[in-house]
Amino acid sequence: MAQEDIFKKLVAHCKEYGYVFQSSEIYDGLSAVYDYGQYGVELKNNIKKYWWDSMVLLHENVVGLDSAIFMHPTIWKASGHVDAFNDPLIDNKDSKKRYRADVLIEEQLAKTEEKINKEIAKAQKRFGDAFDEKQFRETNPRVLSNQQKYDELHARFAKALNDNDLAELKQIIVDQEIVCPVSGSRNWTDVRQFNLMFSTEMGSTAEGASKIFLRPETAQGIFVNYLNVQKSGRMKIPFGIAQIGKAFRNEIVARQFIFRMREFEQMEMQFFVRPGTELDWFEKWKTSRMKWHQALGFGEENYRFHEHEKLAHYANAAVDVEFKFPFGFKEVEGIHSRTDFDLAQHEKYSGKKIRYFDPELNESYVPYVVETSIGVDRMFLQVISAAYCEEELEKDSRVVLKLPPVLAPIKLAVLPLIKKDGLPEKAREIINNLKFDFNCQYDEKDSIGKRYRRQDAIGTPFCVTVDHQTSQDNTVTIRYRDSMEQERVTISELGKIIGEKVNMRRLFEKL
Ligand code: ATP
Repeated sequence: MAQEDIFKKLVAHCKEYGYVFQSSEIYDGLSAVYDYGQYGVELKNNIKKYWWDSMVLLHENVVGLDSAIFMHPTIWKASGHVDAFNDPLIDNKDSKKRYRADVLIEEQLAKTEEKINKEIAKAQKRFGDAFDEKQFRETNPRVLSNQQKYDELHARFAKALNDNDLAELKQIIVDQEIVCPVSGSRNWTDVRQFNLMFSTEMGSTAEGASKIFLRPETAQGIFVNYLNVQKSGRMKIPFGIAQIGKAFRNEIVARQFIFRMREFEQMEMQFFVRPGTELDWFEKWKTSRMKWHQALGFGEENYRFHEHEKLAHYANAAVDVEFKFPFGFKEVEGIHSRTDFDLAQHEKYSGKKIRYFDPELNESYVPYVVETSIGVDRMFLQVISAAYCEEELEKDSRVVLKLPPVLAPIKLAVLPLIKKDGLPEKAREIINNLKFDFNCQYDEKDSIGKRYRRQDAIGTPFCVTVDHQTSQDNTVTIRYRDSMEQERVTISELGKIIGEKVNMRRLFEKL
């Protein structure tokens, strides 16, 4: 099945099974804003816990913070967001659709890359074990010609971005004959800059309300609290501050479900270091963050690093972690070496000293910062698209979410075989005992087969069935979601069997 069809099915599945709903749906929805349903919120919370504990619990020198969304407006002037938090936009005059000029060109690059990969996959199939990819890349004329096209376009694109040359971005779109996917035409407007921040007013107008912004990233809340945390926590450099919270961006194009939203959530950690050591820390966090992703077991081949074409105004090194979504490799996380830009700017604009006295060097300095920044919603999409699976079985088929058990919203479902003979009571008894440790669900409706399918669809890793034998010898069958195998075990063993699989420690040990 085409990847696009799978993605459509995944979106429909998320709605049908209470994971993600369009915001304000009964009013025909609000574009690029989504709500999380009963299972969605559990999965989201588990993802946040995995991130938070991996930062704050496992690192003695990383502490948490929860700063407010509203902040003093000068913060956004100091951070550069008022002047430079822009995306280049372009409109198609026929469809009236708006696009990000950089994204149109990136997609063009991805198409060329895709052509190269197809050639390689074809040759690999033909030559089998004898295939030498390096040699093939260096000699195959079609690959060479596409690689040259890719490199030329990439170099031109990177230069245009770095020079902030909007006319050149448009010229690239024209030269590459990029068409609007909706109208199919090449009737483009000029490229313009568009600021992504939402603003609102604080205080009543009579008193003279002031314009404030909804934060477009959580990081600034960390920077302006750097001294508070460092002093009150007696933190010694290097140390980090982690925060999870909402961020808002008035995205120009928002068409890929929860990949790009106007209201979303970020998990950011700013790590404060001695100047000159930032690139070493950048490498360390790069490795550490990739491990965090890969520990979930979705396959190493589905991740890659992507170097930025253009460094943000504050960065001296930057890389994205990309995951292979059903619509291709895309960013889930950014790791940036932000230098002392933010703290130095806040010193300048606030007029307060933001320094660290380093007892080892016996001097004060503005710390440098390495940031790791990941979107909760993009991570959610990564998890759910990796987990979504349609399986043909001997007699029928099933849709199953193969979520890592540690992240699954419901850990076990307890199902009485029939609704009488004391089986429901026994099932409730099991839940009443296990609910303190695991999120359990009771289900007695429909045949046992249908109930298994329902649990497969929401990704419950364990189903426990209570039958007549249970009342005689206190045993139940436990069914494993992925293998569908069943096993007879005693009720007293359940806590241990499930606990071993759903304990986050299993993931942390891999980090
Ligand atoms: P993009 O290039 O996709 O617009 P970005 O490079 O602007 O993203 P950052 O500013 O580095 O993103 O933000 C860090 C992380 O926050 C991203 O890796 C992503 O996971 C998440 N994120 C950013 N914008 C959005 C959004 N509009 N919706 C959902 N998540 C987002």
